[in-house]
Amino acid sequence: PHAAQPVLRCEQVSRWFGGVRALSDVSLSIAQGEIFGLVGPNGSGKTTLVNTITGFYPPQQGSIHFEGQPLTGVRPHLIAHRGIARTFQNVALFKGMSVLDNILLGRHIFMRPSALASLFYWWWAEREEIAHRLKVEEIIDLLQLESVRDEPVEVIPLGLQKRVELARALASQPRMLILDEPMAGMNQEEKEYIVRFILDAKEALNLTILMIEHHMDVITAICDRALVLNNGRVIAEGPAREAVNHPDVIAAYIGG
Ligand code: ADP
Repeated sequence: PHAAQPVLRCEQVSRWFGGVRALSDVSLSIAQGEIFGLVGPNGSGKTTLVNTITGFYPPQQGSIHFEGQPLTGVRPHLIAHRGIARTFQNVALFKGMSVLDNILLGRHIFMRPSALASLFYWWWAEREEIAHRLKVEEIIDLLQLESVRDEPVEVIPLGLQKRVELARALASQPRMLILDEPMAGMNQEEKEYIVRFILDAKEALNLTILMIEHHMDVITAICDRALVLNNGRVIAEGPAREAVNHPDVIAAYIGG
């Protein structure tokens, strides 16, 4: 048997913003079931790389493949159909809507246009839609959000809002999950919850995970491998502990 193909492969990806080269020849490959950490000082290109993978900024050079299929040029709203879900660094939930409805939005990729039109009333309707609801209930359960399910998202604490975002991403039943600083702004207890959840969900849902993370202790604790960017270039890549302890990485953080 031949070696398993990587789930995600970026080859020589470059991206400019005006005169700023935000990414220079970035290559990476992530295997099925890996938790892959993306690290680097502020402005090093982490968000640009994730936005390039998810179609917000098509790469100006290089190529991206997901499960062997080219991802280059696929529009952001179609990325979910390919099996990739992401969360954002700053919580991007719909204010005024309940926790439950925000998570339901993650199911919209499975709904026919007619179902989408009646999104807010779908639970009165057809059998197909009941299946969506059951799936969402399962996720609410998994992330222990029962007690806030009917609250407007903006009134619940930030730590729980981040959990709702994670729930919404999982509602699309992705095979790959991209997390942008999932612990940002969280207290110690919430961080520990998310770390445990990521590890459990990875196993239970058979996920491959790419995460931007500032906390080196989190990277070394849960990531299998990591890639470090500085000024848009890869300065270290490999097993998480080795990558983040590379002398160039330490120099980049001190210099940055
Ligand atoms: P990080 O996520 O590692 O903090 P970013 O990817 O946000 O880094 O930024 C990398 C570089 O690209 C920075 O120099 C930043 O100013 C620039 N950049 C990112 N997005 C844009 C944009 N939309 N327009 C112009 N410059 C951008």
